[in-house]
Parts: sequence; structure tokens; C-alpha cells
Amino acid sequence: MSKIVVTGAGGFIGSHLVKYLKKRKHYVIGVDIKKPEFSKSEADEMIGADLRYPNLGIFQGIDEVYHLAADMGGISYIETHRADITFNNTMIDMLTLKACQEAKVKKFLFTSSACVYPAGLQSSNQAVFLREQDAYPADCEDGYGWEKLMMERACTSFAQDYGMKVYLPRFHNIYGPEGTYDGGKEKSPAALCRKIAKADKEIEVWGDGEQTRSYCYIDDCVEALYLLMQSDYYKPINIGTDRLVSINQLADIIEGIAKKKLLRNYDFTKPQGVKGRNADISKAQEVLGWNPEITLEDGLEKTYQWISKQIYP
Ligand code: NAD
Repeated sequence: MSKIVVTGAGGFIGSHLVKYLKKRKHYVIGVDIKKPEFSKSEADEMIGADLRYPNLGIFQGIDEVYHLAADMGGISYIETHRADITFNNTMIDMLTLKACQEAKVKKFLFTSSACVYPAGLQSSNQAVFLREQDAYPADCEDGYGWEKLMMERACTSFAQDYGMKVYLPRFHNIYGPEGTYDGGKEKSPAALCRKIAKADKEIEVWGDGEQTRSYCYIDDCVEALYLLMQSDYYKPINIGTDRLVSINQLADIIEGIAKKKLLRNYDFTKPQGVKGRNADISKAQEVLGWNPEITLEDGLEKTYQWISKQIYP
């Protein structure tokens, strides 16, 4: 049994990860500025802390840290909060990394993002499979993406200089139940589930709906994090799926689940992000023996049913 800290344990991926680690009988301490929104945390201890300030004590005597805390949200949020995101995440990440090094934490996992990949490789909806090495030469998403790339490099420097073991998953659109679905921080699968659950006649779609993405269900994601932490792979690694769908196709699947056929009102004034993004996951398949198992249809079914229950309890 390891003594593990999960930062961001009040958030979407963090709260699922805590459940996963508890099933494997680890002692888990959750850290977050807020409590989980949708269910009680299963952590052995839940510490309320603002990680933008030094919190050395939390990491004393800890074997492994899964560092997920971040100021983040969907495309609208990250394009309109660049200053806050850059400041908050730089403080959170650097202070947490330094505290872990000083507390002699052996294993440190930092959750990076597909937003580190260059815009130039994502300008067509016939998206290329982004490989880990494609992050350079860098031209990241401004703010959120650059901070993630900088932090990947900082982790690697701490590994080289202090002998820490660092793990650097790059997430590609993780979705599932108990994720934010309203209020401005939600991402496309949750936003579409909410819109379709509420609609009788039509839904609003941002852009022409032909932007493409690949999506990974939460259970597959936490499994990959756990396998990565057991591995000896210390370079950035994609965690996602390589099934490319457009926003329109995503809406078609959710409408099928909801048994609705709605008109689409395309709003070109709303942020749309890059035109196309897909993940090459061959590295994760090779080094972790991991393969995402939940189909998009099954994952969206669970997500839609959960969101619709939140709206119509
Ligand atoms: P989330 O917003 O649900 O969780 C992040 C948590 O961090 C929240 O509970 C929040 O309260 C906490 N937090 C924010 N500021 C804090 C502070 N100052 N001190 C302490 N806690 C603070 O997001 P998530 O989807 O669970 O993402 C987890 C991690 O994965 C993040 O680092 C995110 O950047 C990364 N990521 C997620 C996705 C995705 O598709 N969900 C994609 C790429 C990267």
C-alpha cells in the first residue's frame, strides 16, 4: 500500500482517480481548493488547500503524487482567461513540484494536455495523428498550452537534477459522468449532452460543427494514469483515443442516445479551437500495454444519462 496524494481531487479526473486508487487499497490524500461537486470524496483524507501558495507539509512522507490541480475549462474558458490560467497554473505547478522535491517524493505525475501541440498541425479537420515528438518546434495554445509545455520541461529538469521520477501524460479530451456540464468550464461532450437533454427543437453548435476531435472515457484515462505510474517511462505520452469524430457526429451519437432529432443552429461567433486534433496513442499501447476499451457510444451513453439525471432529477 502506497501513501498517495492526488491534487485536484475535488475535480473531474481527480475524483475518479481517488476512487480507482482506493479500490486498489492505497492510502489516498486528496488536495483541492474545493470539495468534489457531485459525490463525496472516497479519499482517506481530503485537505482543503490553495496550491498557488506554498504547502510543503502536505507532501512530507508521501510516496507518489498525482498532480491534477489546475485552473482549466473548455475552449471558451481557456481562450478568455489566459492571464489567470497562466498565473494560477504556473504558481500551482511550480510550487507543487518544488514542494514534492523538497519532501523527497519519489514519483511525481503531472497532467499535461494536447493543447501543447502546434496549431499548424491542427489546421484541417482531416486531423493528423499527433505524435509526442510533434510538440516541437513548439507553437502551443497560448496561455494554457504554453504553461503545460513549460511544466513538462520543468519536471524533466527536476528529474535530471534531483533524481525524481516524473510521469508526463498528455490528455486528449477526457469525458464522462461527474464532469462539469454547465457554467462555462464544460467541454464539448458534456456541453452537447446538456444542450440535447434540455432541447425540444434545436441546439446551438459552435462553428460549423465540422471541427474534429478524439475523446477518451474517464475509466480508460485513470487506468492509463495508474499504469504509467507503475512504469519506467518518463517522457511525455499521449493518453486519448484515435477515433476522430466531428462535433456534428458527436451530436448525432448523443441525439441517438437521447432519441431526439434536433435542428442545429450554427453560431460562428463562438470559439471553436483548432480545426482538427487526433492522438497517436501507439506509445501508450507499446509502453503501458494500454488500450482504451470504452467505445464512444458506450461512454456517451453513461455521460448523457448522468447529465440528464442532474438536470431532471
Ligand atoms: P477539473 O477542473 O475538474 O479539476 C481541476 C481541479 O483543480 C478542480 O477541482 C479545482 O478546484 C482544482 N484547483 C484549481 N485551482 C486550485 C488551487 N489553486 N489549489 C488547489 N486546487 C485547485 O479538471 P479535470 O478535467 O479533472 O483536469 C485534471 C487535470 O487534467 C488538469 O491538470 C487539466 O489541465 C488536465 N487535463 C484535462 C483534460 C480533460 O479533458 N479533462 C485535458 C487535458 C488536460
